[in-house]
Amino acid sequence: QNPVPNATIDKVEATVTAHAVKHIPEEYIDLAEYRAHGGYELLAQCLNGKREVEAVIKEMENSGLRGLGGAGFPAGRKWRIVRAEAGPRLMAVNIDEGEPGTFKDRVYLERDPHRFLEGMLIASWAVGIEKIYIYLRDEYHGCRALLEAELAKLRAEPAMANAPAIELRRGAGAYICGEESAMIESIEGKRGMPRLRPPYVAQVGLFGRPTLEHNFETLYWVRQILEQGGEWFASHGTNGRKGLRSFSVSGRVKNPGVKLAPAGITIQQLIDEHCGGMQDGHSFYAYLPGGASGGILPATMNQIPLDFDTLQPYGCFIGSAAVMVLSDQDTATDAARNLMRFFQHESCGQCTPCRVGTAKASAIIEQPRWNLPLLADLSLVMRDASICGLGQAAPNPVDCVVKYFPHELV
Ligand code: SF4
Repeated sequence: QNPVPNATIDKVEATVTAHAVKHIPEEYIDLAEYRAHGGYELLAQCLNGKREVEAVIKEMENSGLRGLGGAGFPAGRKWRIVRAEAGPRLMAVNIDEGEPGTFKDRVYLERDPHRFLEGMLIASWAVGIEKIYIYLRDEYHGCRALLEAELAKLRAEPAMANAPAIELRRGAGAYICGEESAMIESIEGKRGMPRLRPPYVAQVGLFGRPTLEHNFETLYWVRQILEQGGEWFASHGTNGRKGLRSFSVSGRVKNPGVKLAPAGITIQQLIDEHCGGMQDGHSFYAYLPGGASGGILPATMNQIPLDFDTLQPYGCFIGSAAVMVLSDQDTATDAARNLMRFFQHESCGQCTPCRVGTAKASAIIEQPRWNLPLLADLSLVMRDASICGLGQAAPNPVDCVVKYFPHELV
């Protein structure tokens, strides 16, 4: 039996929510304000037959928009794949945002929730979705209150009479539930453990139905792309890349925060042009280009374009574009220890290479001298034999320390 009475839990939740709501920024755009600036006109055009499904999907494909939760799968192609599956089709929206250092979805959601909701409803129209599940991390109390309020206003509108049902589901703080199939298990009421694929979620997803799964930010861009054209979005890249990326920058920079920048920007440009440089008394030493699992690179490698695919040759990836900047007062070794502890804690435990591998690797790197042959062996097994990205990418920070920071290990 739960030792804490429900009334007490409700009271605590109400207090936390009220506290969180107070922090919603002044520039917040509610439904009335969103409509006053042309909001939901695009959705109306879709529903009234003024936009063709094929043209909308084509525009999304032209934009080159990729899944911004980290996987980077082309959004337009995903719409086409799920639409080709037999109905009923479902949709799952991922606002779990559990990747360490990532906070872009929360920032956008707290400012302009209807931009996301309109994108979600347009995707749902284009793909032919019957029901939508939004999975929101429970730590985002303010966002939940805000979304519940805005969804209630939206549902009350006559134009929404034929819209698919929308359920807001609460995550419970598990990192692994940001993985799409684990999130789906969690929405189904089961333990959040990743599924083996194939079959892919697009074919057999929520409750066994074809499922369109998207991260919050991917849907956030739909309206602007369809209003301004796919070419507009694609025209923004630099260093040979295409599109815009919302970098969540944290660490030793002067002005951390969400920085909207061209895909392909380098870390040096990001620090100098978007973050006001390094904090006083700190010099740039290293950076994590993609949250916990995207690896660690030295400051000397500061000219690599940051985008999907560009970091792979270095054993790294951009993921959800959470960039953490370390200074001469930090070490890559400490960062790797911290991250491996995190992976050990967050492993769902269903496969041995990850469950045992993260624990063993963590124990080895807590020692003053690392057993490098054993670490290399563990890394290989974890990469080759883990079921999901957590176990496959968990060795990245440690491997990067061995490769790029050997001076820290002597
Ligand atoms: Fe779970 Fe880790 Fe296996 Fe992923 S790799 S399924 S998190 S045990």
